[in-house]
Amino acid sequence: MKDSFGREITYIRISVTDLCNLRCRYCMPDEGIPKVRHEDILSVEEIGEIARVFVNLGVNKVRLTGGEPLVRRGIIDIVQKIGRLDGIRDFAITTNGVLLKKYARDLKLAGLNRVNISLDTLDEDKYSYITRGGRLKDVLEGIESAKEVGLTPIKINTVLVGGFNDDEIEDLVRLTIEEEIDVRFIELMPIGESIKMGPECFISNEIVLEKVPDLVEVEREDPSSPAVYYRLPNAKGRVGIINPLSCKFCQYCNRVRLTADGKLKLCLHSNMEIDLKEALRKGQDIEEIIVDGVAKKPESHRLEDGQYVYKKMYQIGG
Ligand code: SAM
Ligand code: SF4
Repeated sequence: MKDSFGREITYIRISVTDLCNLRCRYCMPDEGIPKVRHEDILSVEEIGEIARVFVNLGVNKVRLTGGEPLVRRGIIDIVQKIGRLDGIRDFAITTNGVLLKKYARDLKLAGLNRVNISLDTLDEDKYSYITRGGRLKDVLEGIESAKEVGLTPIKINTVLVGGFNDDEIEDLVRLTIEEEIDVRFIELMPIGESIKMGPECFISNEIVLEKVPDLVEVEREDPSSPAVYYRLPNAKGRVGIINPLSCKFCQYCNRVRLTADGKLKLCLHSNMEIDLKEALRKGQDIEEIIVDGVAKKPESHRLEDGQYVYKKMYQIGG
């Protein structure tokens, strides 16, 4: 399935819930979010059906996200339904890792290939601060469980927050030396709760290359990935630099997003949405709606127009 700019759409990111068991300061308000009615969220069957149609249309990479995907009731059933589809070559989940120890084995058995784990600090107290009460130990045990059951290669996503974790860049990079783990630094985006944070928090991830000058750029394997990868000499894993606001990779963009309430989003930075939930519930042909929708995927995002997404990261899933 191609969009009107000839880009082949092969990747869908599916948010399975808006809810989360953490309250990262840049993402969710302390009090959590207004609970969406159960009937407004896609059911396990509906998620499976929409995924099936996308895979029929040529999607071969699926990522589950949230909110926190592992708090979604029926998450293993969702993974099983998608894991069974023929034609998927990469099936991953983005998680905060807190519940990974509990679910890693079942996720693997249900057909998941690998996990991306969000971790902004290696310091227990700082972790508790940034997540408003999370326990670093849970995530570290989750990472170990993921390794044990083979949900690999593991990628760790770190949002850089100026004055909070820029002093840990070297330590985080060092995680890539002995193990085949990629650590990816993501710039804090002015979206959701982070809008309330001071300008000093928004730092360029160029700082990673300044702090660790030994990093050497490696050849791009996937031109559609927003990450540029580097490696320390002889390290097993890589260091990724992700600038989510850069338009550099729009011409290679192969992805669309599905929100937990069943809206198809064609670009992270666009407010255009297509309601697949309602279409499905009315018995309409969602394949046709998806093909028509994808044809409208914007060529690139235009932040200079002052246009910005109204949805929060926990609603879109990153
Ligand atoms: N709860 C899961 C997790 O944390 O991995 C999945 C959903 S979370 C919204 C996906 C990613 O978005 C996380 O890596 C998180 O750090 C990132 N994120 C959230 N708010 C952000 C912001 N304002 N700027 C940049 N990244 C953000
Ligand atoms: Fe939850 Fe992920 Fe947002 Fe943190 S970043 S509050 S873990 S959804």
